Amino acid sequence: MTAANTVQRTQLFRAMTIVASGFGAAMLALWALDLMGVTVGSVSDSAIFGSVVLGLAALAGAGSAHAYFAGTDDTVSAYDAQFRIDEVTGLLSKAGLIDAVNTPLAEHRPGPGQKRFLVSLDFGSLKEINETYGEDTGDALLRVFADRLRRIVGNAGPIGRSSGGEFVVVVNVEDNQRELRAAVEALLGVMALPVRIGAASHSVFWNAGVAEIHDGELALDKVMRSANLARTNANAAGRGTWSIYHPEMSQLAAYRRWIETELHQALKRNELFLNYQPKVRATTGEIVGFEALLRWTHHAKGIIPPAEFIPVAESCGLIHQIGDWVLNQVCEDLSRLPVSVPVSANVSPAQIDSDDFSRKLEILLQNHDVQPGRLEIEITESLLIQRSARTRKILADIRKLGVLLAIDDFGTGYSNLSTLAEIEFHTLKVDRSFVERLGSRAAAGTMISTVVGMARSLNAEVVAEGVETKEQVILLQAAGCNIMQGYYFGKPALLATILDDYDNGERADALSPVAAFA
Ligand code: C2E
Ligand code: CA
Ligand code: CA
Repeated sequence: MTAANTVQRTQLFRAMTIVASGFGAAMLALWALDLMGVTVGSVSDSAIFGSVVLGLAALAGAGSAHAYFAGTDDTVSAYDAQFRIDEVTGLLSKAGLIDAVNTPLAEHRPGPGQKRFLVSLDFGSLKEINETYGEDTGDALLRVFADRLRRIVGNAGPIGRSSGGEFVVVVNVEDNQRELRAAVEALLGVMALPVRIGAASHSVFWNAGVAEIHDGELALDKVMRSANLARTNANAAGRGTWSIYHPEMSQLAAYRRWIETELHQALKRNELFLNYQPKVRATTGEIVGFEALLRWTHHAKGIIPPAEFIPVAESCGLIHQIGDWVLNQVCEDLSRLPVSVPVSANVSPAQIDSDDFSRKLEILLQNHDVQPGRLEIEITESLLIQRSARTRKILADIRKLGVLLAIDDFGTGYSNLSTLAEIEFHTLKVDRSFVERLGSRAAAGTMISTVVGMARSLNAEVVAEGVETKEQVILLQAAGCNIMQGYYFGKPALLATILDDYDNGERADALSPVAAFA
């Protein structure tokens, strides 16, 4: 950042950039706060919260973040007085933002060696929050987020709300990706912290898209569209992610449309099939279950990974048909596996969120003569966080059937103990990112032993995902986690391949320990 461009900087932002890079530690801090019953502000954040998070993050040695905005605490935007504002948040409206960018204050013109970027941040769940808690809560939430942005960005550039849960920040950064990365990740880190409004704690997932505002560019609408496209793209890669617009993304949008068209045909052409990956008791190598993973081989284009087509299926509604196909196939395949070996199936939030889901499940189990306890449904943590009364009821109905419930990708969201305690689940699957960090970051091991302890108190089992090395196995066992899944024990494979040894077309009575133990 150049001296000529003395951007107003805030302490909070400096703190939060550190937190943003100390993700695991921040997660722990959130739990710690929950355990201590600390309320995170009534409608805003409290200083104690920031300092506890910061303290833990610093303890975890996460002090390597770049403090992008650091310095004074000036939070009043000089634009507010001049341009049109958004009535709910007091930030610039979309029109105000366009004016502000086209006629920037002197200190907001990019300095030598700097570029100007538009960052579009969005949390997808404003509509659900409005529907579940009422618009007053939605508005209060928007104001908290607006406040956070004001505190973080200060006077570094214009801030606006362009629509719904979509906020826009314009920043000048050095002409390298490092500074931009630090700024955007810090923004995402702070925005993702939970907000308590009244009795409820709200955690939402943010994604960001970034597009450069080229010199003399007046068509801000176009830049916003580019940033939005980048954000949609990031969204497909997962929660809390961001990406910078590049022209190929327009092609990517076309690719997603292609997937949508082809996916309709894929079901009819029988191009979908399942792979199974073992879950293993690491002490003995015994297979204690499988996860069914969906695969698509397009007749002309070959393998298309689920990370590419599932989000498209979710957004176009095809996930219902595809999900039904998966569950049906799993039930069929269960007849080939020993009765003691359950199979888990991934189920998208949209699938669960239909009133007749548990009824459909019940019929399916009856039709295939499958004991409910042999089927496990994996739902992601994000579903819990939205925890509408309806979702809770559906999950309870699934449990009543006797079907097992697993919380997938655990640790990537911000669900808290009270949310977890409300739902009777059987398995917590610790996300691969924590297993990856084992050995390099002490916090990852601490996180896993905390989860193991917590799961034990809730009578649940912990499964570590993405286990690839012997070292990870040892560290996981040291943290008290014995059930593991990952390439180290077995890659996802066709059931026919897995059952090769037993194959006489009948049910396998028992399975041998995985090869890693042979
Ligand atoms: P997931 O549920 O978290 O599944 C685990 C993913 O990690 C799988 O990727 C698996 O192949 C991969 N994996 C397993 N062990 C290792 C390892 O040791 N190292 C690494 N690097 N990766 C490992 P996959 O099969 O590509 O699936 C990606 C995601 O797609 C799944 O993530 C799940 O969210 C979704 N998905 C897969 N099948 C279905 C399905 O039938 N329905 C729905 N709704 N989603 C599905
Ligand atoms: Ca899964
Ligand atoms: Ca997972």
